[in-house]
Amino acid sequence: MSLYFPTSLHPSLIQGASLEQWNDANWQLRHSFTQAAQLEGYLQLSADESAALQSCGEKLSLRITPHFLSLIDPADPSDPLRLQVIPREAELRHEEGELLDPCGEDADMKAPGLVHRYPDRALLLCSDRCATYCRYCTRSRMVSGGSKCRMPLNMDAAIDYIKAHPELRDILLSGGDPLLLSNEKLREILSRLREIPHIEFLRIGTRVPIMLPQRITDELCAMLREFAPLFISVHCNHARELCSAAEEALGRLVDHGIPLGSQSVLLRGVNDDAATQRALYHRLLCCRVRPYYLYHCDPVSGSSHFRTSIKEGLDIIDSLRGHTTGYAVPDYVMDAPGGGGKVPLTRESVLRINGGIAVRNYRGDIYHYPSAE
Ligand SMILES: *Cc1c(COP(=O)(O)O)cnc(C)c1O
Repeated sequence: MSLYFPTSLHPSLIQGASLEQWNDANWQLRHSFTQAAQLEGYLQLSADESAALQSCGEKLSLRITPHFLSLIDPADPSDPLRLQVIPREAELRHEEGELLDPCGEDADMKAPGLVHRYPDRALLLCSDRCATYCRYCTRSRMVSGGSKCRMPLNMDAAIDYIKAHPELRDILLSGGDPLLLSNEKLREILSRLREIPHIEFLRIGTRVPIMLPQRITDELCAMLREFAPLFISVHCNHARELCSAAEEALGRLVDHGIPLGSQSVLLRGVNDDAATQRALYHRLLCCRVRPYYLYHCDPVSGSSHFRTSIKEGLDIIDSLRGHTTGYAVPDYVMDAPGGGGKVPLTRESVLRINGGIAVRNYRGDIYHYPSAE
């Protein structure tokens, strides 16, 4: 693996590390920033951020890898990468219509950690930790160890359920971040799934290539390759997240035969304009990642400062479709509040009912969205 040591890095990020240490995922995790005082060695916190940092941990812990912090411009208080990972006071406010479980997953949990909502595929939540916590996290209720609620997981019960349901052919591993599990643990989970004859297709949803590219070693890639067909969906929101180390990590996955798609969230102040979105998708394609979904920001409790209107999202898609490479245009979707699942957002599919917005999911059921725009 080539070694990156951004020599221009601030000493508070390097923390005395050698080149080898900086490029070691365990070093990055052990030296992650989890306290306001540590951040202050690198950037000046605003009054808003300082206040939020005092109590945000009861909802969602603070954690940022030195790698990701190194991509943030400390001189820019509204740096789009900073806004995603450093809490602001609005995060502590619960707005009307917001939910702790915006996608209604708990109701579709058929075994602890296994969400079976769609006919032929299910979501397996197999880790409650991430390398860095995103402040708009849709599963903040159960990741990071911050809140009192814990991610339920009973792997034996989940596997038994999958075995007993031959209609399942596709299992999506998510969390938290599955790539924070050890290679041994991941191999064990993937092996148990691969042994089930009706499971054709495996997927992993992860932000590790962005937050902790050092974790994407040849050894990990070779192990994942054994479980083909296995696709990876990479969560990425801004072209600047795709630095040379992330590009190399993604390239290593592709070179090992692992197809990559992306998932992005439309976020106010981060990527809510056409030029930023276009740059993101172009950069993803150059990293050999096919844009898959652009999510409308879920109405999770404490996320109002991140949410755009649906119209803004539709305008962005209109600015891309036909104007640039078709591969660079993701599907703009909403995870319908109350368990409706993912529904495509297009000018035709967004319904206006009683002055509010509603969408129709693949079963034809109508779900209301808690906002007029
Ligand atoms: C997103 C999701 C899936 C996968 O959906 P695709 O549209 O096939 O990518 C499966 N199960 C649940 C519960 C999900 O939220």
